[in-house]
Amino acid sequence: MKAGRTASLVLLSVTTTFIVALEACLSFVKPLSAMSETMHLVVIGAVTCAGMSLLLIPAGIALDRSMARLRQYVERTTQDESDSAYYGPRWLQPITQSLLSAIEQFRTRERTLRNQIRDLEIRHRVTEVEQQQIKAVLNSLSDGVIVTDPFNEIVMANETAAEALQFALDGSIHQPIEVVIGDERIRQLISERRDSSNFSDHHVIDHEVAVGEGDARHVKMYDIALSCVENHKKEVGGVVTILHDRTRERELAQRETDFVSKASHELRTPLSSIRAYVEMLVDGEASDEKSRDEFYRIIQAETDRLGRLIDNMLNISRIEAGIVQIDRQQVDMKSLIKRAAETIEPQAREKDMTVLTKLAPVGLTVEGDPDMLYQVILNLLSNAVKYTPESGRVTISADSDNLTRSVLVSVADTGLGIPPDALPRLFEKFYRVENYKRVAKGTGLGLSLCKHIVETVHYGQIGIESKLGMGSRFWFSVPMRYAGVQEAA
Ligand code: ADP
Repeated sequence: MKAGRTASLVLLSVTTTFIVALEACLSFVKPLSAMSETMHLVVIGAVTCAGMSLLLIPAGIALDRSMARLRQYVERTTQDESDSAYYGPRWLQPITQSLLSAIEQFRTRERTLRNQIRDLEIRHRVTEVEQQQIKAVLNSLSDGVIVTDPFNEIVMANETAAEALQFALDGSIHQPIEVVIGDERIRQLISERRDSSNFSDHHVIDHEVAVGEGDARHVKMYDIALSCVENHKKEVGGVVTILHDRTRERELAQRETDFVSKASHELRTPLSSIRAYVEMLVDGEASDEKSRDEFYRIIQAETDRLGRLIDNMLNISRIEAGIVQIDRQQVDMKSLIKRAAETIEPQAREKDMTVLTKLAPVGLTVEGDPDMLYQVILNLLSNAVKYTPESGRVTISADSDNLTRSVLVSVADTGLGIPPDALPRLFEKFYRVENYKRVAKGTGLGLSLCKHIVETVHYGQIGIESKLGMGSRFWFSVPMRYAGVQEAA
């Protein structure tokens, strides 16, 4: 500003001096002094313009060059980031000085900003890694976790929670719980917890969540723990909701209760019978030898039944608990089948039934516990004889399945067959087809034990094919080589 003003003043004074000097000169030139006023002004104007042009054009060119040098100097300095020598006119030096200090300030500012950007990048990367770690930890948890902010928007959630409450994990973040969580009770609990601002205690409630659609719809039981999170201002920073699935625990507890009640019921029946006959004997109600023999026979049968029940119950429990003693060895299935067929023969003969044995002419050896496998074969044969009317036929066959490297045993009968609705429940503990209870006595534990022995102990498979009134075919397969983990010796 100051330089501009000085330059204008200099130009003004030079022009004025020039005009005054020109006026003085013109007054000495005779023909010009005699000129009219107008002509006089035109001559002065023309001469002034010419003079000024002569003066200003070189000045402009010089200014142009100086500016070009200044530009080069500034470019050099900014590019090299080092102070280079200045060869321009001296009068431009103050401008270069201010330019230099401005450039230096910009450089310092740039360096600070670059450092800040690098810091932010590092912090961003650390946060990303931390977030990945938190995600990995959350997803490895068997419990569902949902973290919400003070506005009830989801900050974090894991796959278990998404699965439990049936929402899509992707796209749930930063969404309000009203949009994401369908279960109204859980939404209400989160809101209540946030509004309570209670940081000390952790609220745990029981809650049932309905999952699935149509036929697949079922109820899951959860323990829901909610706790408030404090932010740095000691205010509510959000709510952490943890969903612990207790469905399986409850089912197991329920199954245990059912087992105990069914077991006590099953035990009570033979016990009551034994007690009744013993009382009759004590009271002398069986006066003759024949009646007494009959009572003794019934007591013996009921005691056997009680013993079988207790044995089966113990065996199933031991297998389920993984504490059963297994004598694993090479077992020739052919000899087991022959022995079982011989054992069942008298029972079959009583009912005028035929027991056919069809064994493939190949080696049928498996790695397993011989006593347990014998029990399975005998149980299936015994059932076939029990639930087949007189003069029927029972066929036990065995062959090897080279594809699965296992031995397949099947017991087919021409008996009652099994109603379709009973088929899926046949291997349940204590399950007996209602209408067949009068046909034969039983415990309802035989098939359950067979399933445990085949599947849990031998890693095999067991199944049934049956049509009501057309007989049944029970089958099981056992791998030739033990397919499970070898127990410690
Ligand atoms: P149970 O001691 O009553 O025979 P199981 O567990 O061996 O107990 O069998 C369960 C039920 O399955 C039996 O009560 C019977 O109703 C049915 N069942 C088993 N085997 C046969 C079969 N071969 N034919 C028809 N029903 C059978």
